Amino acid sequence: MRGLGIHPIRTGTAAVKVPFMTRHGGPVASRLRIFTSKAFTPPFPILSWLIEHDEGDILIDAGMSESCLAPDYLRSLGRVDAWVATHLCRFDMAPGDGLGPQLRRIRPRGTDGLRVAMTHLHLDHIGGLSDLPGVPVLVNRAEWQRPFGAPKPLLAAMTPDCFEFKATDTVPGFDAWYPLTREGDLFAIPAPGHTKNHCAIVLKRAGVTVLFAGDAVYDQGQLSRLEIAGAHVSARLALDTMQRMHRFIQAEPTVVLPSHDADAERRLNAAETFRH
Ligand SMILES: [Zn+2]
Repeated sequence: MRGLGIHPIRTGTAAVKVPFMTRHGGPVASRLRIFTSKAFTPPFPILSWLIEHDEGDILIDAGMSESCLAPDYLRSLGRVDAWVATHLCRFDMAPGDGLGPQLRRIRPRGTDGLRVAMTHLHLDHIGGLSDLPGVPVLVNRAEWQRPFGAPKPLLAAMTPDCFEFKATDTVPGFDAWYPLTREGDLFAIPAPGHTKNHCAIVLKRAGVTVLFAGDAVYDQGQLSRLEIAGAHVSARLALDTMQRMHRFIQAEPTVVLPSHDADAERRLNAAETFRH
């Protein structure tokens, strides 16, 4: 949304096996349903968010690079990740829609003075980092030390600036944060469940609060229904995170922007806050 200085960047789409989206039964049964299902979801967007800021612009997650269109790209991720990315997911991207070209269209000075803050380290969030050589990347230390489902060759190419959450009593529902700006208007909060150390990011600007939810939920409807995705590593942590988000949203009206929500860009443009 131009008024808020937030630019959505959609680097193609992903589709996943249907049971990725909703958990049924325990962890083993849920995993098995993902592996055995033949049905794929409709394609959903892969979203990153560029935030203009006086202290230096910040990109939340990096989406995918156009290099993913190369026939050998997925194979280069290693055997397991290549299998997951080809059998359980389907990625699609039009030429020119990789992170680098889109960023240059929005921000003519390219990566100059830019920083990236990661919610977690999955392929569709770190793939675009290859378009941003030399750009500082902020990752919470626990996610970096114990990444889950992150392709090793892409991790090996990263040298992130790790941060650690600090105790706070200023964020309703949450007891830790890490300010990403000196002003404190942009900060990360722990939002585990999708991965063990996944985080979300909050921006407060011009009377509007925006929650960049990452993959804590795949869309706002899941947050509304407290619906746990089948792909989450911990159902218990994912539910706790969603309940904390509810307490946060009750305390202040919030625009909720998950990374794969097809309706997120419209809600951002309309500054539409979360409603049950
Ligand atoms: Zn993810």
